[in-house]
Amino acid sequence: MERTKCLIIGSGPAGYTAAIYASRANIDNVLYEGIQPGGQLTITTEIENFPGFPEGIGGLDLMDNMRAQAERVGSKIRSGEVTSINFDKAPYVATIDGGEQIAADTVIIATGASAKYLGIADEKKYAGLGVSACATCDGFFYRKKVVAVVGGGDTACEEASYLSNIASKVYMIVRKDYLRASQIMQKRVAEKDNIEILFNCNTVGLFGNGGVEGAHLVKFKGTDKEEMLDIKIDGFFLAIGHKPNTDFLGGKIDLDANGYIDLKGKTTATNIPGVFAAGDVADPMYRQAVSAAGMGCHAALDVQAYLVEKGEL
Ligand code: NDP
Repeated sequence: MERTKCLIIGSGPAGYTAAIYASRANIDNVLYEGIQPGGQLTITTEIENFPGFPEGIGGLDLMDNMRAQAERVGSKIRSGEVTSINFDKAPYVATIDGGEQIAADTVIIATGASAKYLGIADEKKYAGLGVSACATCDGFFYRKKVVAVVGGGDTACEEASYLSNIASKVYMIVRKDYLRASQIMQKRVAEKDNIEILFNCNTVGLFGNGGVEGAHLVKFKGTDKEEMLDIKIDGFFLAIGHKPNTDFLGGKIDLDANGYIDLKGKTTATNIPGVFAAGDVADPMYRQAVSAAGMGCHAALDVQAYLVEKGEL
């Protein structure tokens, strides 16, 4: 069976940065890209908040650059998804696409998180044409326009507040008659004149020619007060939560109450020796490309320290 010093799982900014640092520390490493090579950034358009690109850079281009950089310094980058991994003892044996296996002395989990969607067909129809799950990524394109944010939690309030500084008007579409968000986030929303909360509303469709021009809502769904309501919007932002991609870990890695990998102390260490995590899969808080890249760097340095301590480097 093939053996590597460091197996990196995931190909977002965290995975590629970990690969660059591992290679430059002379740690043999193999990175599996997973089902969405390049990760979430490949579905955004222009990235204007990643330092070093004064004119901005396309999400795909940024990820292609990171991949090329990792390959140039010696990382072995492969397509394929790690479908399971045995954490019982090192070396940890990972199974790729349910078949071939690879043994690894250390593992960096950088599988990211997936934004939750409502599951209505129009979300796919208007993907990249007005539907987004990231206000910080795409909000800029809605300067002086009207947008809607779906959700009533902290993320939705944060996204709505952020967008209210850019857009002329922000609707929050909340399915219950209250916000689940913390008091402080609710207060922040209440202080904004251009945020209007539509309580008791569910989105059932979007409309528009070539891009989002509005949303079909149902108010008081399933009751005798049920009514249809259309709102005119240019952008539709989902903020109904993220799901960290941890299913393949088989319950062996400690997660926090929200399902994110629970890091130990101030490092990227997990509960299993030699297994580290970086990026959105372990970050419920910041979820930015640049912070994920930073965590990828930390994880590779943690791998290096671990191998040195064990006398294996
Ligand atoms: P939450 O799970 O807290 O909230 C999700 C929101 O989306 C809820 O209002 C929920 O409605 C709504 N929702 C879920 N599914 C649907 C659906 N199918 N249709 C319509 N609405 C739906 O997720 P968040 O991402 O907001 O937060 C995750 C965690 O991260 C929380 O612990 C939060 O506190 C934390 N966080 C903290 C921040 C901060 O402190 N600044 C910022 C961001 C996140 P309902 O209430 O009806 O279930």
